[in-house]
Amino acid sequence: MLNIVIFGPPGSGKGTQSEKIAEKYRLIHLSTGDLLREEMKKGSDLGIKVKNYINKGELVPDEIIIEELHLKVSEHKNAKGFIFDGFPRTIVQAEMLDEMLSKKDIKIDIVLNIQVEEEELVSRMMGRAKDSNRSDDKEDVIYKRIDIYKEQTFPLIKYYKNQGKIVNIDGMAEIGKVFEKICHAIDIYNSVKDR
Ligand code: ADP
Repeated sequence: MLNIVIFGPPGSGKGTQSEKIAEKYRLIHLSTGDLLREEMKKGSDLGIKVKNYINKGELVPDEIIIEELHLKVSEHKNAKGFIFDGFPRTIVQAEMLDEMLSKKDIKIDIVLNIQVEEEELVSRMMGRAKDSNRSDDKEDVIYKRIDIYKEQTFPLIKYYKNQGKIVNIDGMAEIGKVFEKICHAIDIYNSVKDR
């Protein structure tokens, strides 16, 4: 099994890279953002519950996220592995994820830390706003999401550093180049693991 967390600020390209990684390494891509947006579109109870948090750029409460993720992981009993995108976003979520996986006797192998400068993040999200149709790709909400990332999500780097799992990836390059660097990191990990 290969379980990856893709980590980085909003606008760092996690979704784009996750799709490519999932395809190449045959992993299940679990994006909490996509999942929640889907529920909002459907107008489900969950969608209605999370809408206000998302539109304000705030995090959805941990309990809601953890329950959803648990369901999703259980749906894929025979998966070759997962790529977690947009999760965990808080220390509590990371601890819950470790606990949940350890019950299944699996673990996170690699945490890809995609690094992009703040100015570039804002310009990417403003640039995609027209096409993304995302209610949270608006200037004030974008800044709020970056602030929340710094406050609540950035501390996770230390959490995973302590576990020796962080791999820094320069996310300023073009999509293909970033993907090459990610594949390189995964392939090295796999070759050491198989030895
Ligand atoms: P981005 O990384 O571009 O901010 P996402 O699609 O990952 O976008 O998330 C969009 C929004 O969904 C977040 O701002 C937050 O409100 C909510 N969300 C997604 N994942 C989580 C999570 N793990 N915990 C809490 N809220 C989340």
